[in-house]
Amino acid sequence: MGATARSPAPVAGGAGEPPIVHGVDLDPQTRCRHWHSPVDVVAIRMKCCDAYYACADCHAALADHPIAVWPADEWHRPAILCGVCRHELSIAAYMAAADCCPACGARFNPGCRSHRHLYFGSGLEYVVSPTER
Ligand SMILES: [Zn+2]
Ligand SMILES: [Zn+2]
Ligand SMILES: [Zn+2]
Repeated sequence: MGATARSPAPVAGGAGEPPIVHGVDLDPQTRCRHWHSPVDVVAIRMKCCDAYYACADCHAALADHPIAVWPADEWHRPAILCGVCRHELSIAAYMAAADCCPACGARFNPGCRSHRHLYFGSGLEYVVSPTER
């Protein structure tokens, strides 16, 4: 009683600390319940909450708000995380990368190209409604 000892709280965002990634059934390389093939190792920082999620479906399942997409004039911001080496890429660098991590060479899922509009916009606003609340 009266003991004031408490374990130090983990501090996110310290120098050199990899960002926290949110998701459903995440594995150590940021694969999630929805995307879990060998090449599904990319996490995306969401503009709406500035947090990394494994995919849009994870955001829909865990967040209480719709996704906001990145406007093209913010594509220089680091918003892509390689789940293998934890290297952060800007959206523009990710767009230009040949479906692999420029830092470690891990393969990225080329199928992601078909749903980039979920995260980065395409001139249209795309709203994902939460699956359940
Ligand atoms: Zn969000
Ligand atoms: Zn997911
Ligand atoms: Zn990498």
